[in-house]
Amino acid sequence: MSGATHKRDLRTSQPLWADSPGLGVPAHPLKAAISVDVAIVGAGISGAFMAHELSRDHSVAVLDRRPPLTGSTMASTAMLQWEIDLPLTALTDKIGAEKARRAYLRSFSAVAALKRTVAEERIVCGLKDKSSLYLAGDEYGHRALEAEAQARAEIGLDSAYLKPADLRERFGIDRTGALFSSGSAGADPARLAAGLLRRAQAKGAKVYSPVEVMQAASDPEGVTLLTDAGHAVRAKSVVFCCGYEFPEGVPTPGAEIISTWALATKPRTACPTWLRDALVWEASDPYLYFRMGGDGRLIIGGEDEASPDAHEDQAKLKRKCETISAKLRRLLPELEFEIDYSWAGAFGESATGLPSIGPVPDMDHTWAVMGFGGNGITYSVIASQVVGAAVRGTRDPDADLYRS
Ligand SMILES: Cc1cc2nc3c(=O)[nH]c(=O)nc-3n(C[C@H](O)[C@H](O)[C@H](O)COP(=O)(O)OP(=O)(O)OC[C@H]3O[C@@H](n4cnc5c(N)ncnc54)[C@H](O)[C@@H]3O)c2cc1C
Repeated sequence: MSGATHKRDLRTSQPLWADSPGLGVPAHPLKAAISVDVAIVGAGISGAFMAHELSRDHSVAVLDRRPPLTGSTMASTAMLQWEIDLPLTALTDKIGAEKARRAYLRSFSAVAALKRTVAEERIVCGLKDKSSLYLAGDEYGHRALEAEAQARAEIGLDSAYLKPADLRERFGIDRTGALFSSGSAGADPARLAAGLLRRAQAKGAKVYSPVEVMQAASDPEGVTLLTDAGHAVRAKSVVFCCGYEFPEGVPTPGAEIISTWALATKPRTACPTWLRDALVWEASDPYLYFRMGGDGRLIIGGEDEASPDAHEDQAKLKRKCETISAKLRRLLPELEFEIDYSWAGAFGESATGLPSIGPVPDMDHTWAVMGFGGNGITYSVIASQVVGAAVRGTRDPDADLYRS
């Protein structure tokens, strides 16, 4: 492995969370060579969950070339969902029933684990339990959603199919059908990551920034990272949590970097009461999704485009903002809102909607975490569990699901 990761701009314009209070994470430049049990490259939400998990019983250093939290984590709309981008029925067609069942159940338990961690660690990040309303669209229509409800029920997941009349009566939405499921959540992703990093720091973890990891070399005893600070980091294990800046030498078959857009309305937007407790998304391509934040802002996103750079185009940001707003107005004509923030970011997709979490080929003691798809944060939790087990010399029973 030579140059450690590809560098790209991760987001454009000002995301909502950049103005959140409580984002301070003490970080220092690397002024001397260090030696630790685990070095984590990347101080976003994946690095934060990893540091939180491994600092329980290891010495940990987290290194980032940017200030902590300022990668794609800051751009995230943080719908914390167990429902994978690909419905269970479609995932079954791709990877088989047994694996698809495990992938869904594992995501479900990961969201529950995230909520437990936030409660136990008393992390103030606006976490709120939410149901999810998945609307029939041009990718999956009402028949497909009805079959999906059945498939989920067979593996013990609670998703109710709503007929158009129910949907109209309960939610005032005109669509041919929907799935209504419990067990999701929403949060401020930057405050969540900051809280996790600070808890890890309280257990001894150190955060170094700005420090770019340029090269990694492994040997039977561990890994040496060469940094732009001119000082080496020696670690028994290394975990790359570099978001969408893929570590070189790690295969990413079927993975693509795309662009996505998001908006937030002014606080205290007058919304229907049900919207306080539900995330809404649709089975369309491109799709629309939205949820309410704690201060009554609507956080809305979608209009994904298959380009790694389109999110850098300011004129496009304006157009996408108009398209997303118009789509929301069509869906909920009564809603009155004014946009306060708009931003765009890079986003990773895989053919299955599953992430890539596993050892770096030909490099001992080294793992890479790439949380593809709309469930990136759920996958950050799973990554900390899978890699946590591997670093401790055990094997997570679902590790095979996430190997690319
Ligand atoms: C607009 C948008 C909306 C989203 N909505 C959702 C959602 O609703 N729900 C959800 O679950 N997910 C969502 N996601 C996805 C989710 O945000 C990502 O999966 C998550 O932020 C990835 O976190 P990360 O820590 O892996 O990466 P990042 O936050 O990008 O952190 C990676 C860090 O690694 C550092 N780094 C990279 N290479 C090096 C190097 N060589 N040396 C040092 N440092 C390095 C970078 O500087 C960066 O800070 C969304 C993403 C976007 C862009």
